[in-house]
Amino acid sequence: MDKIFAIVDAQGFIVKKKFYAREVAIINDNFSYCQEYDPNLHLDYISKDDVRRIKFCTYKLHGLTLRPMEKSSLTFMPKSDDIIGILRHYHKLLSHPNRPYFGVKNELLRRILEDGDIPYLDLNREEFNFPSINYLEKFYNNYWTCGYHRKFPVNINPNKKEPIISYRCAFRKCANIWRHIKARTNKIFDCDVIEGVVI
Ligand SMILES: [Zn+2]
Repeated sequence: MDKIFAIVDAQGFIVKKKFYAREVAIINDNFSYCQEYDPNLHLDYISKDDVRRIKFCTYKLHGLTLRPMEKSSLTFMPKSDDIIGILRHYHKLLSHPNRPYFGVKNELLRRILEDGDIPYLDLNREEFNFPSINYLEKFYNNYWTCGYHRKFPVNINPNKKEPIISYRCAFRKCANIWRHIKARTNKIFDCDVIEGVVI
C-alpha cells in the first residue's frame, strides 16, 4: 500500500450495465480533486428499469441528480466518457516511480482504470485485509458530503425534524480511505479497534 500515490473514487449511475460518472474525487496529502461530471444521459433513451435505478441512487444512495446542477455554459464540465483521459492526466501529474499506483476500492471504477491501462492497486484484494467502507465511515465520519449532493426532504411536515441520511460521496470516501492508509503506513492503527471488534 505504500506504493499508492493517491486514492480515487467515483459515484454515478449504471445504465445498460455501463457506469456513468457523476462525481470523481482524488485525494492525497498534497492534492484534492472533486469534480462534478455530466453523464450526458437523457431519460428518453433509458429503460424504465434503469430510470427506477437512477431514482433510487438519487434519492436513497448518493443524492446526485442525473443532470449536473445549473452552470454557465462557460463552466468546465467534463463528460463521463472523458473519465479515462482525465484519470490518465492525473496519474501522469501525481504519480512517482516509487508510488506509481492509484488506490481504488470501487469495482466499477477499477474496471475503468483497467480499461484505460492506468496503474492501480485494488484495495478489495483479500491480501490487503482492508476494512469495508461502512466500517471506515463508522469509525471516522459519514455525516458530510461535498457540495454536489442534494438533500431531499423526507417529511411532508416542515416542522418535523429531518432524519440524517448518509449519502455516499466520492470525496468523503477517498478522504477516509487515505486516512486509514496513512494510519497503517505510519503504524498508527487508530482504526483497528472499534467497539471491541478487532480487524
Ligand atoms: Zn461528493
